[in-house]
Amino acid sequence: MAQRFVRVQSQSGQLHYGLLQPDYSVQVLDAPPWLQGQVTDVELVADAYQLMAPCAPSKVIAVGKNYAAHAAEMGGELPEEPLLFMKPSTAVTSHLAPVFYPPQSQQVDYEGELALVIGDRCVDCSEAEASEKIWGYTIANDITARDLQRRDSQWVRAKGFDSFCPLGPWIVRELSPEAQIQTVLNDREAPVQMGSIADMIFKPAVLVAYISQIMTLLPGDVILTGTPEGVGPLQIGDRVRVKIEGIGALENTIKPRI
Ligand code: MG
Repeated sequence: MAQRFVRVQSQSGQLHYGLLQPDYSVQVLDAPPWLQGQVTDVELVADAYQLMAPCAPSKVIAVGKNYAAHAAEMGGELPEEPLLFMKPSTAVTSHLAPVFYPPQSQQVDYEGELALVIGDRCVDCSEAEASEKIWGYTIANDITARDLQRRDSQWVRAKGFDSFCPLGPWIVRELSPEAQIQTVLNDREAPVQMGSIADMIFKPAVLVAYISQIMTLLPGDVILTGTPEGVGPLQIGDRVRVKIEGIGALENTIKPRI
């Protein structure tokens, strides 16, 4: 099994990066792994920590309409260059954490996506350099208030609510370029989204190079690579799982915002 890199909070409230073991204990690292964190002799047993989002990005850059079938279902043309937007770092939440349904919206959608984790400062990179800057891969759900997205020409509000960026559960370093991505709702057997990351219009290294021509990417920053077709609404009480072959499954439950 591929190594799984996690970020956890111990019972005393300390945050640690670590390596998840098959028995769900965590071997603590002395720094983020992309900053050459080394294994320490501290080990947290399975019930002695809480899983957090696997990195703490300074920013989350997301790409719209990066799968042709999804661009079609949104009624738009295929973009000629990557269509970028941002989610605030405060939108990031973890595997199994609640996603809060905001009272301002009547339609909150799931969007299962592959997330890239940047390992090294990245400015004006070529595609070849950019692929070296991608440290690993995790799963994201680009939660979107669709009605607000339609109403606004800028998507900050629709995409930026607290808890609208579940990330995790962990980071892996290698991924098949043809990995399957699926989104599953509740206990339904048939996925609501099913695609292959091979169908991205702009591939990971192209996206990282493109973004690095605009803004400096820092270690731990995250890029959401777009969602395949089949986006749809969530209701309070729903359980949504995004699965990517070779990584795992990111699960969240929709709760009312109090
Ligand atoms: Mg998206």
